[in-house]
Amino acid sequence: MSAEAVVHISALMDLFRRACQQQGWTIDEERGLKGWTDVTCSVGHEFRVTALDVVSDPKPFGIDPSMPWCRKCRTASWVTECLAVLESVAKNQDVELTATTERDESGDGHVVFAAKCSKGHHFKVTGAGARNSRGDAIDVLCPGCRKDAALAEGFAKVEVVLSETRSSVVKQYSNGVDIRCRRGHMHSFYLDSWDGRQAVRPDFCKACNKLTRFKEFSEAAKDLGITVVESQWIAASRPHQAVCFAGHEFGLVPNKMKRGCPECPRGMYGGAVPPHDVYYVVSGLDAVTGKDTVKPGISSGSGYNRLRQHAEDGLTVQHLRISGLPVGMARALEGFVLDGLDREGWLATRGVEYFPEAALQDVMDLAGEWFTDQPGMSPRPVIVEGDDVLDVTETPESDAVMDLDVATAVVFDSDEARAVLELTR
Ligand SMILES: [Zn+2]
Ligand SMILES: [Zn+2]
Ligand SMILES: [Zn+2]
Ligand SMILES: [Zn+2]
Repeated sequence: MSAEAVVHISALMDLFRRACQQQGWTIDEERGLKGWTDVTCSVGHEFRVTALDVVSDPKPFGIDPSMPWCRKCRTASWVTECLAVLESVAKNQDVELTATTERDESGDGHVVFAAKCSKGHHFKVTGAGARNSRGDAIDVLCPGCRKDAALAEGFAKVEVVLSETRSSVVKQYSNGVDIRCRRGHMHSFYLDSWDGRQAVRPDFCKACNKLTRFKEFSEAAKDLGITVVESQWIAASRPHQAVCFAGHEFGLVPNKMKRGCPECPRGMYGGAVPPHDVYYVVSGLDAVTGKDTVKPGISSGSGYNRLRQHAEDGLTVQHLRISGLPVGMARALEGFVLDGLDREGWLATRGVEYFPEAALQDVMDLAGEWFTDQPGMSPRPVIVEGDDVLDVTETPESDAVMDLDVATAVVFDSDEARAVLELTR
């Protein structure tokens, strides 16, 4: 080390000693410019600093030399204030405090207390923990009680959601619950975290949400005279198999529905769409799902096209076909039957309109109920002749498998219905 450097260093150490003196500190042991020097402040707080930190900045530690550099001295009034809040909060909430010799990690000098709440939870707390982030006294000091309250709130939310959505509990845990939605989809609520409790909402079931989206999509398609043939929702930006009223098959993208069928001339939609005037109920072994299935639905014109498609899928048995329904009635009847099936707890076997064959009776009852409720209309059971039935599907290859159950076949005479409706207008 050069003689010149020694002079500089000793000048800096002089500066450091003077600064310590001005702060009212006692230097316990000097350790050069860069070493940790132990000091004691005027009120007895012990800590260590480097001489270099003190002399290399006009505001050492970011603090003006007129203020105490000793952190504990600076925070003393804040710490006292916090302690007063802690003591009053503890008293109000029936929490016993026992001071320990520990100080908290902040370095501000908060005393750590061993605490016990009236419920018997043991925890550690300091004055800093007696306030919330806004600086107000904390609502519940005991973290155990806070957690219990949050869990209780979470379970209360679950109760509400269960009753709103007609879901049921499969298994309950101390911090969560497994449930089954009314359509049978499983779901777990985790109530430990704030995020987990926020997720307790009536629209929790992703599978059901998908079904709802699919239903909305297929209803919107019907407005354009298009039938969605795809059996389930894929994605808003992806094509779903569909067929227009003119029989064109194409991929319909939920995000880009306005154009409608790409093969039909532009401007055809919006007023020009032939209304759905056919309501039908078919059943059979669904080739897509391999399940015995009943499918209520709507179509336009004679309904033959749609029924032929169903027959190709295995739904060859026709139970009901009402054509020539006044505008809007087929859609209304369809909605009524689907809502009724949902209420009865029937779960779709695919999409939102295919149901287990066991639902057939409910489908027919609901259709009959709807007609009974229409002013001036009533269902008229008709025995369908075998020849008529075969004629309906117009698929020669399905002749062999066509098997109409005459006992359950009910045909509503729609010409009469229309006449009655026109008379009552
Ligand atoms: Zn101090
Ligand atoms: Zn507690
Ligand atoms: Zn569900
Ligand atoms: Zn078309």
